[in-house]
Amino acid sequence: MLKFQVRRWSERPRMLVFMLGVMLPAAGFIVAGASYLRNIQRNKAIEAVIQREHQQVLAIAEKRIDARAYDIAEEARAKFPDVNQGDRLEAFLVAHPDIAHAVLWAGKGHVQGQSQPARMNEPAFGEEGKEFSSMIGHWFDPESESKDWIAKLKKMEAKEGKHVYLTDNWVSRGDKWQYQSLVLFVPRGSTAEHPALAGFVYDTDYLKDKFFPQALNDVLPNQNQNDTHPQPVIMVRTVKDHAPLATSLRWDGGSPEVERSFEGVFPGLVLGIKLRGTTIANISNHFVQTAFLILGALSLLMGGGMLLTYRNVARELALAKLKSDFVSNVSHELRTPLALIRLYAETLELGRISNPGKRQEYYEIIRKESERLTSLINNILDFSRIESGKKEYSFRETDVADLVRSTLESYRFEIEQDGFQFEQKIDNDLPQVWVDREAIARSLLNLVNNAVKYSATEKYLGVNLYRHNGGVNLEVVDHGIGISAKEQPKIFEKFYRVGDPLVHNTKGSGLGLSLVRHIVQAHGGEVAVESEPGQGSKFIITLPVQTAEVQQAKGMSA
Ligand code: ADP
Repeated sequence: MLKFQVRRWSERPRMLVFMLGVMLPAAGFIVAGASYLRNIQRNKAIEAVIQREHQQVLAIAEKRIDARAYDIAEEARAKFPDVNQGDRLEAFLVAHPDIAHAVLWAGKGHVQGQSQPARMNEPAFGEEGKEFSSMIGHWFDPESESKDWIAKLKKMEAKEGKHVYLTDNWVSRGDKWQYQSLVLFVPRGSTAEHPALAGFVYDTDYLKDKFFPQALNDVLPNQNQNDTHPQPVIMVRTVKDHAPLATSLRWDGGSPEVERSFEGVFPGLVLGIKLRGTTIANISNHFVQTAFLILGALSLLMGGGMLLTYRNVARELALAKLKSDFVSNVSHELRTPLALIRLYAETLELGRISNPGKRQEYYEIIRKESERLTSLINNILDFSRIESGKKEYSFRETDVADLVRSTLESYRFEIEQDGFQFEQKIDNDLPQVWVDREAIARSLLNLVNNAVKYSATEKYLGVNLYRHNGGVNLEVVDHGIGISAKEQPKIFEKFYRVGDPLVHNTKGSGLGLSLVRHIVQAHGGEVAVESEPGQGSKFIITLPVQTAEVQQAKGMSA
């Protein structure tokens, strides 16, 4: 008893090691993963990364748009009339329909202005041009102003190789402020004695309809219509208006998520970027959700794997325990009959027993004990053959009634002597069944032995044989200690013995029923149990009708 307890305790540390070694790291991994994801979510880390990326896209966009604006303005400047060719301003504007107004300042009070001839039919357009010229005149007339500007432009030319300076120019049309782009430069023919300045403006319409749409699309190359990934789209607006002035081709409405004010060429304009068809928050949520899903799936897999491993380890441990119990049970079972045989044989050998009745009794004990030994050894041998896959059956067409009767015959007397009420009910007209006689007899004896072993006060043994579904059923019934419903499925497992003290006090190896089940299944049948603790048990072996294939298979092994 003490031995079993010691062994049971030693399983716990092993399970503990399993929990510590496998479950804790796994749980740690899951918790760390989840909290890491939570942090990412809470700190809006993904949003921040995308926003930073968008800022970079906008910075690059601004640079490229500026460069494009310089190119266009430089090109126009190169064609601008010289200081003394003020009459060519109109021709210049005809050649540059995108320019709204042009102006040439050639010293205090000398301003020549011209508006785009193609647009003179527009109301107030000529007026706007005149205002522009007079503004430039007022601007440069003070000597200090014009000097400053010329110096600034010369310096820019020397430093950056640029001949033009671009800035904003707001005009009011109707009730709205319109954005224009003003280009200023020193015209050819300007000298130190006769300084001159010139300028022209690109109108809102040009910026809105031509310049920015092209520039914005150039900044976002390789936009593939079929790409399902969210693609960035950009727009430009004035600081005075949230509605876009111009957008890239695939702009899908809404407001930009990241904005950047132009610093150089287009002061007063703002670049904006967003993702087509989605938002940064959506992308981040989607990412976090997917990551949580993956983590969840991984956790499930890991949990499943651990459960499987745990169950396997537990099963292995249980089997190891059963095996060691088996060894001690079998040794005990071998030792007891051997000791009895030796004791009675020695007593008889001494020749002191004069009472023939007594002597007869001793011979009987010796025979019974050797029979018990034989059946135990047969069980063990059978079991080891089954385990190594070497068990063979030899099937023969058999009269089962005759087989059962003759098997029980030699036991009937003994059983009845033990005080058992023995009932045997065998139907007539039973069909012939293909069986291995010896194996079936052994199964029956195992069941009968159990019935006898596990009956305490109520000593009854019933054996019934009857036709069932074309085959036969063999029942062994007792009124013994019974088996709880929980234990019933386990008793057919190898080495398994019920943990009840009533059972532990009875000798056994835990092999009998597992052999019975193996034998019966090899016959294409099943063995079942009906039992209630304290009420007794009924074991039912079903030997089925033989199908053609079974017959054939049996014919081969027979
Ligand atoms: P054992 O050698 O222990 O009898 P078995 O495989 O024959 O091994 O039986 C397994 C267990 O099933 C037994 O240990 C016992 O607990 C239970 N058992 C078997 N037959 C009976 C029965 N007729 N009544 C009560 N319990 C039984």
